[in-house]
Amino acid sequence: MEAAGGHSESPEPRRLSALWADRSLRAKGLIVGVVPVGAFLLTAYLATIEVGVIAGFACSLASIVFVTTSVARRVQRNEENARRLAEGLPLLAPISGRDEVGGVALALHRASAVLTERQAALAESEAMYRTLARNFPNGVVGLFDHDLRFTLMEGKGLEPIGFTKERLEGRTITEVGEELFPATVRVAEAQYRAALMGEKSTTERLVNDHTFLVQIVPVRSDTGEVVAGMLVGLDITERKDAEEELRRAEAFLDSVVENIPNMVFVKSADDLRFVRFNRAGEELLGYPRRDLLGKNDYDLFPPEEAEFFTSKDREVLESGRLVDIAEERIQTRERGERFLHTRKIPILDADGHPVYLLGISEDITDRRMADAQIREAKEAAERANRAKDEFLSRMSHELRTPLNAVLGFAQILEMEDPTPDQRESVRQILAAGRHLLGLIDEVLDVSRIATGRLSLSSEAVSVTDALTEAADLIRPLAVERGIRLHIEDADGLHVLADRQRLKQVLLNLLSNGVKYNREGGDILVTSAHVTPERLAIRVADTGVGIGSEAMARLFDPFDRLGAETSGVEGTGLGLTLSKGLIEAMGGTVKAESEAGAGSAFTIELGLAEPPVDRFEREWGGHEASPSQVTPSRTILYIEDNLSNLRLIERIISDRPQIRLLSAMQASLGLELARDHLPDLVLLDLHLPDMAGDEALRRLRQDPTTRTIPVVMISADATQAQIDRLLAAGADDYLTKPLDVKRFLQIVEAMLDREPAGP
Ligand code: ADP
Repeated sequence: MEAAGGHSESPEPRRLSALWADRSLRAKGLIVGVVPVGAFLLTAYLATIEVGVIAGFACSLASIVFVTTSVARRVQRNEENARRLAEGLPLLAPISGRDEVGGVALALHRASAVLTERQAALAESEAMYRTLARNFPNGVVGLFDHDLRFTLMEGKGLEPIGFTKERLEGRTITEVGEELFPATVRVAEAQYRAALMGEKSTTERLVNDHTFLVQIVPVRSDTGEVVAGMLVGLDITERKDAEEELRRAEAFLDSVVENIPNMVFVKSADDLRFVRFNRAGEELLGYPRRDLLGKNDYDLFPPEEAEFFTSKDREVLESGRLVDIAEERIQTRERGERFLHTRKIPILDADGHPVYLLGISEDITDRRMADAQIREAKEAAERANRAKDEFLSRMSHELRTPLNAVLGFAQILEMEDPTPDQRESVRQILAAGRHLLGLIDEVLDVSRIATGRLSLSSEAVSVTDALTEAADLIRPLAVERGIRLHIEDADGLHVLADRQRLKQVLLNLLSNGVKYNREGGDILVTSAHVTPERLAIRVADTGVGIGSEAMARLFDPFDRLGAETSGVEGTGLGLTLSKGLIEAMGGTVKAESEAGAGSAFTIELGLAEPPVDRFEREWGGHEASPSQVTPSRTILYIEDNLSNLRLIERIISDRPQIRLLSAMQASLGLELARDHLPDLVLLDLHLPDMAGDEALRRLRQDPTTRTIPVVMISADATQAQIDRLLAAGADDYLTKPLDVKRFLQIVEAMLDREPAGP
């Protein structure tokens, strides 16, 4: 600001007082007062005016000087205070209101103080509103005046769209709109104007990739007059994105459900009406979706079907669990009756209450038909197979009879001193006949296994006994080829097996070990525990071995793996049969081999407790001491299982009045029965040379043996078998493992009777 004195323009009122405050001006004031007075005094002196008059003037002069100085000081102080007031500094001294100038200054001061206070309050409130608006989250707040000019624009939403309030405040909606959203600026203008007319509006606006939900509302004074317009814009970009994402996910799910090739439907849990169907559902049922939605099963299907469907629905909703309906019938509009495999799943709310029922149905009609066809074909094949087995079985029986005659007469011829040529011919007949007989027997066995008609009598069999018996039979053949047989002792171990059949299998393996061995080779038989309950019997040889590609066909019937050209005799049925027999006994057969290095066959069977051990464990007792008593009763036991024989021997050893005779073959047993007329015959059902029931029949037929009590002992515990033998004349039937108590009762009853004797 320049000094007022240097200006020719009219100074402001405030500056007048400043003139007074100026020291040089005060001097000028004095000059203004003093110079005329001096001039007057000089003239009066010159005119010799009286001293009183001069004194009067002097007083006037003094008062002028005083007033001037005093006014100037006050003005100066007020001026200073005004400055301090303006600058907010403390005032110099209380202003006196007793004079005019002071009054004015005081009034001014008060007015100024009130103004300052109001201004401060206003500024504070504006600042507060601005702060509030600035912190408006996720959006913008703006005010505009009647010229559509933004007077305020704040909010956190400004920055993300690259704007500052400075860029917006002071500009009109038209200017801003043309820059930011030219396409909709006219609409915006109309909305802004409408707000100033008292109307609210809401729109979505895209600004710099941000979507705002914009509300434009009037701002009214206390009297209801619209004083401005307000804009509140909420940045809903994230929400929009989320909605879009959700929409996309829903669309994806929709398309998945639509494209599932099975019928998918949803029913509302409360009224079981359809609320959703996919395309496969429409196609299957033959109705467009609009005809299905809102309907229930009774609207669409025959009553009994609808009843079935809804009963399953209720089951799902009540149990809260998936229900799998393996097959259900459904009447469709265009495709007739179809069969579905349906799964129904409850859809639960947050509290676990079912709100919907989801169903997924697969049309299994075609598969069902195909299955039925396969089943029929399989049954037909099985029928044909049974017929084949039946045929084989009959043929074998039929062949056996003439073959027996051939072999019998050939043997007679052999005995009738034939010429060397005839002897050779007979030898050929016998060899071929025996081969044929073996083949027939094997075919019969294989067909029995296939048809499940193989009767097995499993009992505890001593491995050592079975091996020894088989080895004894094979030894001559081995010796012929210089092959050594090494049989490791099985240490009294017993397996659960059919004795005859186990022997047959061991014989087959040993005979293969000899047949397919090299001259002077070895066969080693070992037994070992596989588990505490199972035993493995391994027959290993040092023969030609089996090629890896042939291994897969090793157990196939009639497949001799090329041996047919080697001159080694065989049928190709031995291993098939062995495997079938061992499996029927609950065991397994495995083979390992290396071409040229030999083969090993391992049988695995369940272990069994030896009968005598079992007796000792259950009945304990002592070994019988030698007795002088002469036996008065005789028991004949016809049994090929030595272990059982030992058991009976052990039981009877406590009764010196009983003598035990035994026979391991039926024919020998029948002979002994005739010769010794025992008091009791114990007869095993499975004997190597004759079936036990045939032996019984012969005992009953022979007048000498007809009345001898016969007790059958067999592992076969089927009631039909028991009834059959009791009907055939057996007096009793004991099953293996032997019920010692019952056996002793029978023995006591025998002792109570009169001795039979020859
Ligand atoms: P077969 O001995 O009557 O031919 P098998 O069923 O007993 O019938 O055996 C089938 C085939 O497996 C035999 O022809 C032979 O080729 C092969 N084979 C069986 N055992 C042995 C073995 N120990 N060593 C080598 N090859 C064997």
